[in-house]
This record gives sequence, structure tokens and C-alpha cells, in this order.
Amino acid sequence: MRQRWVVKLGSGLLTRKDGRVDRARVGELVGQVAGLRRRGIDVILVTSGAIAAGMTAMGLRRRPVAVQELQACATVGQPELMAEYGRHLRRHRLLGAQLLLTYGDLDSRSRSRNARATLDHLLAQGKFVPILNENDAIADEEIKVGDNDRLSAHVAALARADRLVLLSGVRGLMTRPDGTGRLIPLVRRIDDGVRALAGGAGSERNVGGMVTKLAAAEIAAAAGVETFIADGRRPRVLADLASGKAVGTRFRLARR
Ligand code: GLU
Repeated sequence: MRQRWVVKLGSGLLTRKDGRVDRARVGELVGQVAGLRRRGIDVILVTSGAIAAGMTAMGLRRRPVAVQELQACATVGQPELMAEYGRHLRRHRLLGAQLLLTYGDLDSRSRSRNARATLDHLLAQGKFVPILNENDAIADEEIKVGDNDRLSAHVAALARADRLVLLSGVRGLMTRPDGTGRLIPLVRRIDDGVRALAGGAGSERNVGGMVTKLAAAEIAAAAGVETFIADGRRPRVLADLASGKAVGTRFRLARR
């Protein structure tokens, strides 16, 4: 039986300091996805970075504040981002398949069933890598998930994934709220103590910090899916996770 993982790639991981999409990183991660597929693990990617890519394409130095500007930015950036994935995927004889969702889609029985059927069909063909993002251009306060950590957890539940892997620029949950200290390899329960370690949101480009990652772990756990938080800059991080090496933080929460 092939396994199915949902792997979320954060903006901080995919963009360089100057805000441009980090092409080398995308290439490296796509190579790892191809490696997982060879090991019998199908991957659904949830990618951030549409707004960042749009900012670059539009020549914006600062992230816009107005909602419409952000949405316009996403419409420009999303195809740029997909083109970048496509370029690397083709080298592995794979094609990217784009799905843009909002909370309204996840909340609707018929639409989420359609999304699942599409994902099942794509993965059964063996040559497509579904790449999901929030449909930022149309998602307003009422229907948006708002961050891709939670979106990826909903996708993991919808797709009946075996595992959710959140890759970003952090090693995992650390013993100090500022992200320093020692790595916590295993979390069995999210209580106030664990929440206190999550601190606030991350850097300017990061929508989600640890707070949304814990929320994602809880959403995934409710669907029986284990979550891993790991550093996407670590070489072979996905292969190491597949080999069962202790990488990052594993959330083995009871199903509620
Ligand atoms: N959907 C947003 C984007 O592609 C990212 C949201 C997030 O990083 O959580 O720019």
C-alpha cells in the first residue's frame, strides 16, 4: 500500500531574504518529493509564497496592507510559483496539479468530496503532484482559513493522509517560547504548558508561527493524522522522516 503525506512548505522556507522565491530551495524540495514517491509515498504539497512571489513580480518592496492589494498580489504570484514548481517537477518526469481552496470548500460536503476525488484520481495516475494553496484572491474573512498550517491540516483530513509534515525554518517545538533551548522530539498532549512554548507569530513573512502549527496538529489529530514539524532547510529531511529518524517534533495526540 502506498502511503500518502501532506507536506506544507512555508513562505519563510520558499523565499530568500530579499523576498524572491528561492529557486534552489524549491528545486531541492521537489527533488525530495520525487524521492519519497520512489519509496512508495505519494505527496500532496501545500505551498505558501504566492503573495511573496507576487510582490517580486510586481516590484513591491513592502508587503501591502490593503486586502485587495494582497489579493491582487496573490493572483500574480500564484502562477509564478506554480511555474517554478513545474520547472523542477518536469526534471523528475512529474507534473504539478494546482488546487486552490477556501474554507468554504472544505466546509461543503459536496465540494470537499469533489476535491478528494480529484486528489485520489491525480495520485492514482502516478505522475502528478497536487499543489494546493488557499484561493487568496477570493477568500474573505468569512471563508478564509487564513494560514497554510491549518489549511494543510484540513487537507490531510480531507485526503485521508497518513501523515502531515509542516516544513518551515524552525527545527520544531523548542523548550523556550522564543524558539531557543532544546528540541522537543515528541508531544502526546497539547496542554497549557505546550501552548506557552508556542509563543507568538513568527517573522514578517510568516503568517503562522508555532501557534498555528499546534492548531494544525490538533485538527489533523482529530482526523487520526499524525503531524511532524521539521526544518525544511535540513538536507534529506523528508527521507529522514520516512526512515523513522528522530527529526523535528512529532505530535502523537489522542484522537478526540
Ligand atoms: N496563502 C498565502 C500565500 O500563498 C500564505 C499563507 C501562509 O503562509 O500561511 O502567500
